[in-house]
Amino acid sequence: MNLDDLPGLDRHPAYVYDLPGLKTHVQSIRAALGGTELFYAAKANPDAEILRTLAPHVDGIEVSSGGELTHVRETLPEARIAFGGPGKTGEELALAAGIDRVHVESPRELDRLQGPANVLLRPNLPFRVPGAALTMSGPFGMDEDALDACAARIAENPHITLRGVHAHLASGLDAPTMLDLAHQVAEWAIPWLKTHGVDDPELNIGGGMAVDYTSPATRFDWPVYGAGLADIPARLRIEPGRAVTAYHGWYVTDVLDVKTTRGETYVILRGGTHHLRTPVTKGHDQPFHVLTAKGPESPATLVGQLCTPKDVFARGVSVPPLRPGDLIAFAMAGAYAWNISHHDFLMHPKPAFHYLR
Ligand SMILES: *Cc1c(COP(=O)(O)O)cnc(C)c1O
Repeated sequence: MNLDDLPGLDRHPAYVYDLPGLKTHVQSIRAALGGTELFYAAKANPDAEILRTLAPHVDGIEVSSGGELTHVRETLPEARIAFGGPGKTGEELALAAGIDRVHVESPRELDRLQGPANVLLRPNLPFRVPGAALTMSGPFGMDEDALDACAARIAENPHITLRGVHAHLASGLDAPTMLDLAHQVAEWAIPWLKTHGVDDPELNIGGGMAVDYTSPATRFDWPVYGAGLADIPARLRIEPGRAVTAYHGWYVTDVLDVKTTRGETYVILRGGTHHLRTPVTKGHDQPFHVLTAKGPESPATLVGQLCTPKDVFARGVSVPPLRPGDLIAFAMAGAYAWNISHHDFLMHPKPAFHYLR
């Protein structure tokens, strides 16, 4: 995508989504996966245009709430849907009647599920996950006793069918580590499912593929991952979010002020982390391009308009001489960006949304 030539940038701050780039990217993931099914985790970015761009190239959409479920059904009426997440209410589970898969996280949740339903149980397994950005231990899933209790209840309920296991265990992992984890899950899950009468076991091994914000050109090694999964004797599915959509969104805004205070230079940008919260939640410098200025670079901290010292996009980064009106495009803003941000804080205007087609 040629950033110097973005359409519609007279209106900013703006999110710009590169839909052709996203399509090419998801096609390459799909091609690398062989027989493994690809569901997209809508919570990474549920934007309707993004969902419609992805839909022809994924096997379905994973949703994590009744709200996402309703939104995905309205946006993509034909899509297969898997419903996960802790703390599902009875109302949410009622919405899920007839969807492709329900991921059950506790025996009580199973009791709330009326069916008909095809269920994957979420184990909470004591695996080692070296190098993870987050591990999904704690409240997620069930230990062996609770899993056995669920399997016993399903065996007595003609409206609910046990299909397999859902194991989203960690995030931020590279392909060899994810493969190691997938094999550990399979070694436990396939025999366990057999003892509960599931002869054609299904394993959803989650999302969490690494995205390196310090290196926007680096990609998760999908070919290595896809090839390594082929050894696992089960029906496999993955449900990545961030590694699918992060790269094809930009947050573009302009400089309002530049000032040097006690030796530190601050560039104050229109908008802020109430539009793009990613650098705050991840504790990183959001990668960016200065679109309109050139020249010798010097250090500055890029901040937004919020009345909090936490409103920082990037700290002590090198920038050319900047003046009010110069444009900056923050990269890797296609996932966990707009939709995780605290939009109403300070009541500034919302960003515009532009879609490259
Ligand atoms: C968040 C989540 C995902 C997607 O994770 P990414 O890091 O965006 O790939 C997949 N499955 C479950 C259960 C999740 O909670």
